[in-house]
Amino acid sequence: MTIATRRWAELCPPNQPEQRTVFVDAPRSGRKRVVIIGGGFAGLAAARALRHANADVVLIDRRNHHVFQPLLYQVATAVLAPAEIAVPIRQLEVRQRNLSVVLAEVTGVNVASRTIEACAAGVGVRKMAFDYLVVATGMRPSYFGHDEFARFAPALKSLSDAETIRAKILSAFELAAMTDDEGERERQMTFVLVGAGPSGVELAASLAHMVKVTLHSNFRRIDPAKATIILLDAGKRVLSTFAEPLSRRVTRRLTKLGVKVLTGVKVETVDEQGVIADGSRIPSATVLWTAGVAASPLPKMLGTQTDRAGRALVDPFLKVVNASGVFVVGDAAWVMQDEHPVPGVAQAAIQGGRYVGRLIAQELKGRKVKRPFRYSDKGNMAVVGKNYAVLERGWFRTSGFMTFLVWALVHIRSLPQSQNRLRVRRQWLWSYFTGQRSSRLIPESPSVSAPASDR
Ligand SMILES: Cc1cc2nc3c(=O)[nH]c(=O)nc-3n(C[C@H](O)[C@H](O)[C@H](O)COP(=O)(O)OP(=O)(O)OC[C@H]3O[C@@H](n4cnc5c(N)ncnc54)[C@H](O)[C@@H]3O)c2cc1C
Repeated sequence: MTIATRRWAELCPPNQPEQRTVFVDAPRSGRKRVVIIGGGFAGLAAARALRHANADVVLIDRRNHHVFQPLLYQVATAVLAPAEIAVPIRQLEVRQRNLSVVLAEVTGVNVASRTIEACAAGVGVRKMAFDYLVVATGMRPSYFGHDEFARFAPALKSLSDAETIRAKILSAFELAAMTDDEGERERQMTFVLVGAGPSGVELAASLAHMVKVTLHSNFRRIDPAKATIILLDAGKRVLSTFAEPLSRRVTRRLTKLGVKVLTGVKVETVDEQGVIADGSRIPSATVLWTAGVAASPLPKMLGTQTDRAGRALVDPFLKVVNASGVFVVGDAAWVMQDEHPVPGVAQAAIQGGRYVGRLIAQELKGRKVKRPFRYSDKGNMAVVGKNYAVLERGWFRTSGFMTFLVWALVHIRSLPQSQNRLRVRRQWLWSYFTGQRSSRLIPESPSVSAPASDR
């Protein structure tokens, strides 16, 4: 059973129909209902674009918060705290009168009966009818058919993933400082990151900076600066979606930071001792997975063609063919533009969500939208530690300190609300000038705070 299906099964146990509360809500009289599944970049943009529409908008997410994923790696490396890059989705109800937020996991979509099934812990399954459906469920980590790796190599997709990774990294140094076994100390101080896309590169560089600057003088028995950080990728170069000259510059920069970059190397096994790559074992207590992604199971339920990653094929209006009023946006959509797929990035998700929200609003007014969706590429960026970032926009490429400043400004500006912007700016300035990272917390195990009689 995969991780995703196991979680669903826990929330909504199968074969126990008597435990399932099933009822169908009716929309408020005379109003159409737009159901949006997913409160990520695309889902929120669609909901906002519908704020003046004469419809009941229902936004369903299995998490109660929206996460600004581009800065997750900073939570994983203790620069930022989780709340600094997240906002409660429910807060939107205050600002948008036609919107209701539902905390539940959507487990089924029936296009023929125009209903979805959502499941909330303790409540059971709730069926809901829709007039319009927007699927914005994003992607989840993929271990390329090796889900067993997930136990030993957490991926970075949610706030809890980031906290797990942070605890793993910090615990490794604590254990390295405790042990007298030289081999074990080395294993604890070896970090292997699998996947050299933007997430892997940003995580590796931030970790390298943390061990050299923040943790360097924090231990008497070990020198964290001597940690080994390995970035592995089966492909020929890091940041394969960027132009080759930028890849080369990033590799040089990573090497300067002390990261060992190994490309063209295939990981065969991940277990509690580390990884086996190209037949050789690399002992490591901390393996992190930043390699693949796959769509959630929902797009497959729409009865449309999906690509290898499970994204739903949509027409140029982001509609599912032969399913009227059903749209897929963001990472979950497979949209072709100028013979290339629209990339799975935040900008594309925001633009797609906004487009579909506006299209539905127009249709509700009885108008037909004739202009198909057009993704406008604002450029790709990746940051490589302190003071260095790369930017590519069409033929324009640049890197260095000024690009780092642009990266910082763009990310501050893109954070969901002013509270996040203020807090992140303050943390970054503190961290930049002192080298400190204030979120270096390893959560206690639940047994520590259990009642004394249970211990
Ligand atoms: C670590 C990391 C770093 C990234 N860095 C960058 C970057 O620097 N720049 C950039 O442009 N892009 C970046 N991306 C990609 C970017 O975050 C995605 O392209 C974007 O989040 C896609 O938006 P979305 O709305 O389609 O999906 P998401 O933002 O993933 O949102 C999907 C939502 O759907 C919900 N959901 C899923 N399934 C269900 C279900 N069955 N029921 C209810 N709710 C469900 C999820 O809880 C989630 O809230 C990064 C991604 C990651 C993981």
